[in-house]
Amino acid sequence: MSKRDYYDVLGVSQDASKEEIKKAYRKLARKYHPDVSKEENAQDKFKEVKEAYEVLSNEQKRAQYDQFGHAGPQGAGGQGFGGFGGEGFGDFGDIFDMFFGGGGRRRDPNAPRKGADLQYTMDLTFEEAVFGKETDIEIPKEESCETCNGSGAKPGTKPETCPHCHGAGQLNEEQNTPFGRVVNRRVCHHCQGSGKLIKDKCRTCGGDGKVKKRSKIHINIPAGIDEGQQIRISGKGDPGVNGGPPGDLYVVVRVRRHEFFEREGDDIFCELPLTFAQAALGDEVEVPTVHGRVKLKIPAGTQTGTHFRLKGKGVPNVHGRGHGDQHIMVKVVTPKHLSDKQKELLRQFNDIGGNETLDEQHDSLFQRMKRAFKGDA
Ligand SMILES: [Zn+2]
Ligand SMILES: [Zn+2]
Repeated sequence: MSKRDYYDVLGVSQDASKEEIKKAYRKLARKYHPDVSKEENAQDKFKEVKEAYEVLSNEQKRAQYDQFGHAGPQGAGGQGFGGFGGEGFGDFGDIFDMFFGGGGRRRDPNAPRKGADLQYTMDLTFEEAVFGKETDIEIPKEESCETCNGSGAKPGTKPETCPHCHGAGQLNEEQNTPFGRVVNRRVCHHCQGSGKLIKDKCRTCGGDGKVKKRSKIHINIPAGIDEGQQIRISGKGDPGVNGGPPGDLYVVVRVRRHEFFEREGDDIFCELPLTFAQAALGDEVEVPTVHGRVKLKIPAGTQTGTHFRLKGKGVPNVHGRGHGDQHIMVKVVTPKHLSDKQKELLRQFNDIGGNETLDEQHDSLFQRMKRAFKGDA
């Protein structure tokens, strides 16, 4: 089934503003909402309206749609290659659909066109994102059929110009309507908008001119890449049409969470648990960094929330501008399961006194809080 033009679905012009698109969508969504609508096919209409809005309300998708028609936004969606199955230039004719006389994206079906861009999602571990990774991926993608050189015609034969549309790929239909005479431009159904007819189809590709192949592509992920960033690999998308250049492959990176490191830009954060004794007496500990273990001196009297910075122990900048830092936040852990002896020692510790500084701190904090709550701080 051919799809209607998204602008037509929403009843807006091609240069409609975001507000106009939103307004049109709201109105139609109310009209066709399956829960309230008494219209015929309300559910299908509602879906159609929603889909059109999802594309036209998103700047990137809209630009893609304007350029590629229905093949575009769908071609670039989804995880891995889930979104690509069967969507391609076969649907290109749809963009000629449903135009009321001129103005639309009419194009010559014989003009060279760039192939569709592909998107591949790559999962990386935290460390792989930090240090980069070289790998081969295999993706299913279209390739020009070698048997027929992409023409779709049996070797030795040639596609013929469609005699119905004379190669234009579209037919004009004039119609009298209450608004006057209207020219309806439709995809030529004899050639499905390609402008060509193939009498003897190539057996390898069945006349499509392209075949699906699993293609191995070498990917070099740069050190320091982060969640959501993408790498463009030029020319590794689907093949072009009518001699146009191939599309590009976009590798979008997802980074798995680390057990104890967190990343913000090029900086790495982690928590360092210390016992009460370590924090009170001071200590030297080894802390993990992505670059290996590092010795860290803990001064006596260190508090929960104390922050140490290990300069240059973060993530290498993806553009080659140095390294981030590693930040360490101290967390003093209060023991939960004490032996009788430990309990006894702690009681003695408490009774010995010499704890005035702590008491003073508590007192003054208590006084400040009391004043704050009275409002005369
Ligand atoms: Zn035709
Ligand atoms: Zn072929």
